[in-house]
Amino acid sequence: MRALRLLEWKSDPVLVEIDDPVPGPGQVVVRIGGAGACHSDLHLMREFEAGLLPWGPPFTLGHENAGWVHALGSGVTGLDVGQPVAVYGPWGCGTCAHCLLGMENYCECPDLVSVPGGGGGLGLDGGMADLMLVPAARQLVPLPDGLEPVTAAPLTDAGLTPYHAVRRSWPKLPPGSTAVVIGVGGLGHLAVQILRATTAAQVLAVDTRAEARELALAAGADLVVAPDDDAVATLRAATGGRGADVVLDFVGAEATIALGAAVSRFLGDVTLVGIAGGTFPFNFFSLPYEVSLQSTYWGSRPELVEVLDLAARGHLRPTVTTVPLEEAVEAYHRMEAGSALGRQVVVPADAG
Ligand SMILES: [Zn+2]
Ligand SMILES: [Zn+2]
Repeated sequence: MRALRLLEWKSDPVLVEIDDPVPGPGQVVVRIGGAGACHSDLHLMREFEAGLLPWGPPFTLGHENAGWVHALGSGVTGLDVGQPVAVYGPWGCGTCAHCLLGMENYCECPDLVSVPGGGGGLGLDGGMADLMLVPAARQLVPLPDGLEPVTAAPLTDAGLTPYHAVRRSWPKLPPGSTAVVIGVGGLGHLAVQILRATTAAQVLAVDTRAEARELALAAGADLVVAPDDDAVATLRAATGGRGADVVLDFVGAEATIALGAAVSRFLGDVTLVGIAGGTFPFNFFSLPYEVSLQSTYWGSRPELVEVLDLAARGHLRPTVTTVPLEEAVEAYHRMEAGSALGRQVVVPADAG
């Protein structure tokens, strides 16, 4: 089969021919219907280097995957060949306290998994290929009726990650509250839709790109703002001067964290999702009182079930551009140039 593999750090991935995966006991091979191209893959191929993570290349890219059950390993029950499924991406041990709650993104048994904090496409072979080996049947979530793999694929990260970040702040988003989304890319445009679908908060969105601000408006944002000199004043004015109850930063650069902090409200949440690596000088005076700062990483399997339900019922509509597997590298180049809108989903030619 064909697979888009990262062969070494600081390089473009290459499309190569490798052996078809064979499922061992308890494992499942999925025929890929879609694999989302994520901005974090760019960090993988541009910035990461040996020693930064406990795992590394070579591996097949693609950590947002959905498709159809292709082959079942011995002992797997409850799934049928041909059934459409989404792949839950962060693969933990399955038995620690967090994994038992479905929060394998925060698995606490690093010795029991080969790639702590990773999974298929992040240290192990992912879904930018014709077929993908999923190491445990529990990592597959059957798709609800009406949801196609090509739509479901980006929901497993670009949908699930903002969903988790919004969901944990639900108590701070009653009617009359404000949420600010910084960075309207693959995750950010779905964050706006998730806020719309699951809260009554006013939604403000910030992006440097005019077309991304248009996308935010189409996704349901009440107001879009360019991060210029007036951005803090404009955003605060939109909250009646009180500030934002929840800020979701999908960039994570020094400037975006500073913007989020500057528009936050007493008792609010500033949640860092983007991995640009910016820093913030935390001290007694640097934030309104009782603002909580946190990072989040991905989401839980039960939350993925909820995200897929929202999408199947039309509340989440990812803006998707499909890209043939042969052109996946160009998709990353477009993302790097800032010319990709919404999510690009890589589709093997024979999928469908
Ligand atoms: Zn991702
Ligand atoms: Zn675990």
